[in-house]
Amino acid sequence: MWLTRFAGSCMDIILPPGCSGCGVRLPVSGPARFCKRCASGIHYLTPPVCRVCGIEISGVSGAGHDPLCGECLRNPPPYTMARSVVRYEPQVKWLVHKLKYGGEFSIIPGLVAVIGDYDLAEYAFVDYVLVVPLHIRRLRHRGFNQAAVLARLFFAERPSIIKADWLFRTRNTVPQTELDRNARRRNLQGAFQVKATADVAGSRICLVDDVFTTGTTVTECSKVIMASGAAEVRVLTLARAGVPHSGRLRGMQ
Ligand SMILES: [Zn+2]
Ligand SMILES: [Zn+2]
Repeated sequence: MWLTRFAGSCMDIILPPGCSGCGVRLPVSGPARFCKRCASGIHYLTPPVCRVCGIEISGVSGAGHDPLCGECLRNPPPYTMARSVVRYEPQVKWLVHKLKYGGEFSIIPGLVAVIGDYDLAEYAFVDYVLVVPLHIRRLRHRGFNQAAVLARLFFAERPSIIKADWLFRTRNTVPQTELDRNARRRNLQGAFQVKATADVAGSRICLVDDVFTTGTTVTECSKVIMASGAAEVRVLTLARAGVPHSGRLRGMQ
């Protein structure tokens, strides 16, 4: 391991690393993995957030509050909590797109830096990590599942608990981005199934996906995981859509 790191440092001196987003050479070797321009478009979600679905809530002060949003109050989701690292804004959308559809793993060092800055304490005690699955046909076509890639970044210290094939799609579905909220729900009904149900029963599960948009996908997946007898599901995604536009990325450049 030290040899890899040593070789990496030598390479940084000979050839300074490029920005994980646009590829521009970074002026000095250091912890920053995005250039100033790319970093300026990446924003962490900032508290207070809904204690269940994790959406940012404005109008209440952060200290001493444990807010619950109206949507979770009316319609309690099957997961205990959902948290996302960054807002799904144009820059993040572009990065996710590069990974998902372009297979550009050059963004990984940048994602490692972004995720590394995020406090995962609330996910430290999960027993297994499941990922939102692609249908086998789409998986074969793409060659990888971006949610499984992210799970390996989130849980780099505990790779053995990642069970990327325990949740699977029983049928191929229309991409959710093309549908409205109700159609999204119908599209995914009965589309997921759990294997290894004996292991899932009684376990605390973390479910990983790339983006939390309306929550329909993680809700459907959580339903089938809970129906398999899981003790709880905690959702973790890289990005979260539908959040206010403010705040800055901490610790980058
Ligand atoms: Zn850049
Ligand atoms: Zn909520």
